[in-house]
This record gives sequence, C-alpha cells and structure tokens, in this order.
Amino acid sequence: MNRRAFIPALITSLAIAGCARPTPDQQFINDAVDALGGRTRIEAVKTLTIEGEGTNYNLGQDMKPDAATQQFALTGYKRQIDVVNTRQRVEQTRTPKFAYFQGPQPQAQILGLDDQVAFNVNAAGAATRLGPAAELDRRHDLYHHPLKLVRATMDPKATVGNVRQIGTVRQADITTASGAKLTMSIDAAGVPLSISSKSYHANLGDVVIMTTFGDYKEVSGLKLPAQLTGKVDDFTTWEIHAATQTVDAEVGDLAAPASLRAGTPEGLSPPAPAAPNVTAEPIGKGVWLLAGQSHHSVLVEFSDHLMLIEAPQSEARTLAVFAKARELVPGKALQQLVTTHHHFDHTAGLRAAIAEGMTVVTQSGNGAWVEAMARRAHTLQPDALARKEQRLVVETVDAEREYKDHTMAVMLYHVAGNPHSDTMLMAYLPRDRVLVEVDAFSPGSAVNPYAANLLENIQKRKLRVDRVVPLHGAIAPMAELEKATRGTP
Ligand SMILES: [Zn+2]
Repeated sequence: MNRRAFIPALITSLAIAGCARPTPDQQFINDAVDALGGRTRIEAVKTLTIEGEGTNYNLGQDMKPDAATQQFALTGYKRQIDVVNTRQRVEQTRTPKFAYFQGPQPQAQILGLDDQVAFNVNAAGAATRLGPAAELDRRHDLYHHPLKLVRATMDPKATVGNVRQIGTVRQADITTASGAKLTMSIDAAGVPLSISSKSYHANLGDVVIMTTFGDYKEVSGLKLPAQLTGKVDDFTTWEIHAATQTVDAEVGDLAAPASLRAGTPEGLSPPAPAAPNVTAEPIGKGVWLLAGQSHHSVLVEFSDHLMLIEAPQSEARTLAVFAKARELVPGKALQQLVTTHHHFDHTAGLRAAIAEGMTVVTQSGNGAWVEAMARRAHTLQPDALARKEQRLVVETVDAEREYKDHTMAVMLYHVAGNPHSDTMLMAYLPRDRVLVEVDAFSPGSAVNPYAANLLENIQKRKLRVDRVVPLHGAIAPMAELEKATRGTP
C-alpha cells in the first residue's frame, strides 16, 4: 500500500471529528454549564452561601396519614456549599407552627457534611454523627444543587449518561467521582429544573428524593435558583427561598468536629444502630409492657392467641418484640397488631407484623394508608414483607371496638380531637384498670401539650383508670396524668 493514499482520508476524518456534533451526554452538560454561566466561571467558584427563610413539613408525623398541614417555620437559614470539596453546612432555626411535642420554642440546628462524615450539632454545641442511611441521604443532598452537581461533572471521574427527552425536558443520570448517583432534569435552554436521588426509607421503602429549582437569579456572573423545594416521592418536605446568594464568601471551617472522627479508622464508619433490647414487665395476668428502649409495646394474652399493641421504631426491634412474646407465651400465635397511630416511629414494624400474618387493627382514618404501606416496593433493602408475600387483613376502629374472650377484654377507643393525631387509638383493659396510650401523655416529659385531650377522652367514656401505661416512658399512676393536665394552659 502507498502511504500517500492515506493522507487525504486522514485529513477528511480529522475534519469530521472537528465538526462532529457532541454526543447527547456532552450536549446535556454543555447546555447546563452554559445556562449556569459557562465553564470558566463555574470552575472559578469555590463556595456558595445561600441565606433565606422557608418551611419544613412533617412527613410521617402529621395529623392524618395524607395531611401536610403541620409546618415548622425556618428562619436564619444559611447553607454553605464547598463547591470544590465534599463539604456542606446548613444552619437554621426551626419553629413549630403547631402543637409540637417538645413545645413551641425555636430549635437551632446545624446540619453538617464533611466528606464521608454527616453530623448534626444541637443548640448546646454537642455534635452527633448520623447513622448510615441518613448519612448517605446527606451525601446525596450535597449534590441537590445545580451549581454543585454541574461542577462535579467536570471531574474526569464523573459520568453522565442515559439522556432522555420527556416533552421539552431532558433528563440524564450522573455519577459523581465520589460515587453519588443523581438524576438531573433541564429545560430546553439547559436550565436545571430538578435533581433527584434514590433512597431507602424504613417505612416507605424505595423513595425518590427530589429538589426542584425555580426563580433563577443573576449572581456574580452565574445564574442560580432562589427557590428550592424538597420532596420525598410526592410529599413536599421543605421549601427555601433565598434572599441572598453569595459566591466565594468566607465560609470558615466546614470540617466535622474531631470528636466524631475519633475511635473509628479515619472516621469512615458511621455508628451502628443500637441492638434491640426488649424487657418484659408484667402489668396484670397475661399482660406485659415490652420496654427497654425508647419505643415500647404491650402484649396481651387471650385464651388462644396474642394481641400486640404497637410495632414501633424498626423492623429489628419489632422482630425482637415478637421473639420476646413467644418466649413469654410459647405456643400462642401473634394474631393482632393494634397500631396506636400512623406516625412513622410507631409503625416501622408494621410490615414485619403483616409478614408475620397478623391482622392490623387501626383507626378507620388509617385503613387506606395501611393498605398503601403494605403495597409499597422495598427492593433497595428487602424487608420481611418483601421477602415473604402475605395477604393483608385490616380491621378498623371508628369510635370504639371491643376484643374479648372468656379470659381477656381489651377496649380500643378513638382519641377524638387530639392535637397530636386525628387517627389515634388508646387501649383500655377494664380488669386491670389500665390505659395504654402513646404520645398523648409521656410521663416525665417537660411538656405534655396533648394530655388534657387524653384526659377528656378518658372522662367522656367514664373509664376507671388506675395506671397509665405509656409506650414512651415508665408506667404512671392516673394522678400523674391529671397533674400534667393542670400544667397545660
Ligand atoms: Zn406520634
């Protein structure tokens, strides 16, 4: 072959490469880069400080399962993003705009991320490291800002792919050099509309956490969103409106406190959750308080089966509670789970109970929600119900419902009008004059904003209560509830 014969061909192919259209992945990022202010400007940015006000909503803790009525006002909001390194710090003051269990006073919060270490600092200055799941969410949260994520794609180790067109919106999947996986949507002009990441939620299972962006402003040669809204699936969890955005302000030290890195190799392991500890305290014949940690259950023995009141905190705790029940009463099946209210911390074991074949007993306002929780996908971390199909049986309680045989009677009552939850039950065991409740009254708590309503509900039904068995805290005489209500304005 003649070498010369190749020369025209080589020139032609170079010319084609020079004019070649960028791939859809390159075009996606190029458009986003241009919309935010261009590569040179973005590469020069070191920090971004966002200051403003907003709102936090109360996912999983509101009055009804589908409500979004309870809000915390966010003031003094300040988010400092290290645009180059993996560091972020959010300072905010959260003030409940509803009857909150800790009282109405504002709570100052600091939410930090330093490389692998996510941490919170409370008002007293004490720092705690988050558990593994919350830590992963916070590492994703760092990239839920268009400037941070677009800057991260400029790292040669980052990847952009799977660009798809949905109407006028283009979407792409991005993996940062640190391994965070995100999806970004941009409009026809390349302006980022949203950034999302997948997460596993102990109650909800597989969820999409999404931040949407609006009200873009010119800031020091960049275009940045002043309106940011966070969602977990369809539920809005927070909104922030930035009054000021400052590029390259002095952010101080964003490092995690040294105390959080001590004791672990380079601080790389988040703390493991405490192992379940289930104690059994007899309340009467065939009735036990299963306590030992922060969230408790009551076990009730009928002639041929067992009823469990509450499957709280986590699947691990609930399975340990089942084991304790079998140890206390061998040979009788756990047949009913009474769930006091829908709040996530009191229903994290709901699906484990369904997998166990238990009938779920709940206030009528929670019926559809229990069915929805049973149907949800838990593929990212398959739980007991994801591993074992079970038919769901739900029994609902309107105002009251009796469960009775010749050895035991349990009355379930709607705690009507309680400002903690609209769909809450309390259980009354007439033989032992015991009332089982949670959150309406927590003995020993500094404030008990819902206790007066609980007392009203007891008095309205003329229940003769000697002892209150709370599922937070220790068993208290009825006089203690009466005393707590006198302290409530
Ligand atoms: Zn609650």
